[in-house]
Amino acid sequence: MKKVVKFGGSSLANAEQFRKVGEIIREEEDRRYVIPSAPGKRFEGDTKVTDMLYTCYRTAAAGEDFGNQLKAIKERYYEIIRGLNLDLSLEEEFAVIEKNFRDLAGEEYAASRGEYLNGKVMAAYLGYEFVDAAEVIRFHADGSFDADTTDRLLGERLSKAENAVVPGFYGAEENGKVRTFSRGGSDITGSLVAKAIFADMYENWTDVSGFLVADPRIVKNPEIIETITYRELRELAYMGATVLHEESIFPVRKLGIPINIRNTNCPSDKGTLIVESTCRKPRYTITGIAGKKGFCSINIEKSLMNGEIGFGRKVLQVFEDQGISFEHMPSGIDTMTVYVHQDEFEDKEQQVIAGIHKAVEPDCVEMESDLALIAVVGRGMRSTRGTAGRIFSALAHASVNVKMIDQGSSELNIIIGVENRDFETAVKAIYDIFVMTQM
Ligand code: ASP
Repeated sequence: MKKVVKFGGSSLANAEQFRKVGEIIREEEDRRYVIPSAPGKRFEGDTKVTDMLYTCYRTAAAGEDFGNQLKAIKERYYEIIRGLNLDLSLEEEFAVIEKNFRDLAGEEYAASRGEYLNGKVMAAYLGYEFVDAAEVIRFHADGSFDADTTDRLLGERLSKAENAVVPGFYGAEENGKVRTFSRGGSDITGSLVAKAIFADMYENWTDVSGFLVADPRIVKNPEIIETITYRELRELAYMGATVLHEESIFPVRKLGIPINIRNTNCPSDKGTLIVESTCRKPRYTITGIAGKKGFCSINIEKSLMNGEIGFGRKVLQVFEDQGISFEHMPSGIDTMTVYVHQDEFEDKEQQVIAGIHKAVEPDCVEMESDLALIAVVGRGMRSTRGTAGRIFSALAHASVNVKMIDQGSSELNIIIGVENRDFETAVKAIYDIFVMTQM
């Protein structure tokens, strides 16, 4: 068995956290390839090393003295090194970093040093080989990611390493110029490594025990999702459930490698297992609930719309021309409604309305704002009767007015539109009917 284990910033914020990580890794021989993030926040209000690096580099780029800022970053690492009693000096590394900051090596280079240095510390602590991500994660000259070369380089390099630490978040162009993924991108590195070495499992260690059935800011102590499929996760993540960088699922998904979200602070918790497909039934018919506020609907009416070929396309063309993506589009015989993000739409509202009038000559166009969309997601719905019935009776009992219903043909989710002010009540009601009553 080969496992790739990625640890997030809060799991590596100080020496105490590093010790927990060390114990986790040493507990299983299979945990052979380790992807560290940069040290994160040690306490509420603390600053992540990545953010300190961005600030420090901006100071350097402005031609101001950045000595003290770099010293504070160095101190974060030495605090860890001292706490772990390691015999490790980072003086040479910091001298190079200082020089490169002066030479304005770029923001991405600056940010990447958080993971680079933490990788050095981690490799020394574990006695694992250090593999610089700049040598094995490849970007094109335009900054886009080069998947094929990366796969080859990683595969070749790691086949020679029994154990290795590969820092997350960055890579480089062929000429050595360092590039980073978007924020939280160490998750992607872990996934790429897992793919390249055909890992049996990609463990992603963080500070929560997995994905929750509902947002804990809305539902008190929600249950943890034990198993979720990649497709379900996409639906929930799109609607705001974030634990994992959304791009990190693609490399492993192709190979059917499961991702296990685990909690460094509670290693005995099983966490959430993300899989391509499973015959394990979800515990509560539904797998999860997620949602977002801030949508608006544009309702277009025209008699005999149903007979007018190309009507829908022409309407959507207006949105496309204005650069607005649409979320949902329920329709009736003579009506169609387009749901969009309010903040994307507001500034272009009048152009869109005028465009629709010009394109399809509707009888009327009406708009409604301050709407929320809720996704109730679950692979179990397909084989369970009455799921929709339970959702809507729960909403009726909670006096929530349902504005829109959309069930995808995959029967994987039901999207419900409600007013913003009913959002929390609706999520709670749906959670309660499925999880608390457990019918
Ligand atoms: N350290 C980077 C960030 O803060 C990347 C990561 O943690 O995955 O975004």
